[in-house]
Amino acid sequence: MATDVRTLPLARPAPRGILWSLFLTLPILIWSLLMMVFRPGASAEPLSRISGVITALFMTALFFMMMRTHNTYRWRRIFFVSLGILFPIGFIHNLYVMRGSMGIPIEEMIAGRTPFCFMPIPLLILPAALTRTLVFPGSIAGGIAAMVGIWLALTLVMGKGWCSYACFFGGIEEGVAAIPARARIRKLDSRWRYLPWAVLLAMVLLSLALFEPAYCMWLCPFKAVSEYVAARSTIGLIQNVIFVLLFAGLVIALPFLTKKRTQCAWFCPFGAFQSIFNKISIFEVKIDKDHCKPCLLCQNACPNLSLSKESVARGETLLSCMKCGACVDVCPRQAIVWHIKGTQIAWKPERARLMFLYSAWALAVMFGGTIIAQGIATILHVFV
Ligand code: SF4
Ligand code: SF4
Repeated sequence: MATDVRTLPLARPAPRGILWSLFLTLPILIWSLLMMVFRPGASAEPLSRISGVITALFMTALFFMMMRTHNTYRWRRIFFVSLGILFPIGFIHNLYVMRGSMGIPIEEMIAGRTPFCFMPIPLLILPAALTRTLVFPGSIAGGIAAMVGIWLALTLVMGKGWCSYACFFGGIEEGVAAIPARARIRKLDSRWRYLPWAVLLAMVLLSLALFEPAYCMWLCPFKAVSEYVAARSTIGLIQNVIFVLLFAGLVIALPFLTKKRTQCAWFCPFGAFQSIFNKISIFEVKIDKDHCKPCLLCQNACPNLSLSKESVARGETLLSCMKCGACVDVCPRQAIVWHIKGTQIAWKPERARLMFLYSAWALAVMFGGTIIAQGIATILHVFV
């Protein structure tokens, strides 16, 4: 029986002082300017410079608000939704500059004449281990090693936090989920959360059997807003219809109806793969059972279905937790905390939050910030 939360004491911390918040934000300001404006190789073209400065200030302002308000989720979401909107703008513009179309012939996709994407990483491992061949080489000259390196660094620090601070697709559905005031569909069958594992297994085996990245060829909903298959045959047409239907259903309609990230929670094989790394990343979100009254507000707030009644009773989030902070911010008892593995749960949760956020935000600036700056530069080029 859920407890009436109005009977629980509210104990939100008072906002931090402005000067102290500014002081805590200073390293992020310096890092953002270094990454967005002064890094070696940054474009000296005026509009690119301006977009770099705008992005650096944007990322710094959001971090400042995280420090000042103690709220993580709201400010992270602004960044993440911006990333989701601006990524396709910059990416599609680049495709038109490069080849005059969003469509890519299937042979070119297999041959790797396409920008590298992190989504096929789990599909590459088995064929690469068995045959020493990449089934989806991506544009190797365009930085496969850099992309894999960034993914690895982010993953070791954040585990599945990748899906809240780096994925340039998840922001679209998170933005859609934020639109309605209330969910129209509230009762969600918890068994759906196993589906991404089934999709992952099927796609890994299929990629090995067909020797091509099966998920990218058949099931990626985000092809609809990035690089679809040039429909020169019936098969190409069928592939594109599948992409559009999956996008419309999992990224638009269901997030709107449920207020959840349904593509991430119910479908994404990369998200399932990324969950494994929650086992080794040093940061986690944990529940202090001594303070928790089981109101289950956290379970309702979780956009990824990563909390269940049973996991709350155990004091844990599920393996799929993407460290977005929604549950931490909503808990009226402050019973959910940021936690460093190996420490006592009561060990200074705000200090653990700061350490996590410095790592996550530094990497978000480096990776997501670059994508946001590209999107802003594209828009500036249209209007200026
Ligand atoms: S941890 Fe969840 S169930 Fe426990 S008090 Fe906080 S919001 Fe309620
Ligand atoms: S359990 Fe909490 S931190 Fe993890 S995904 Fe759900 S709301 Fe986000």
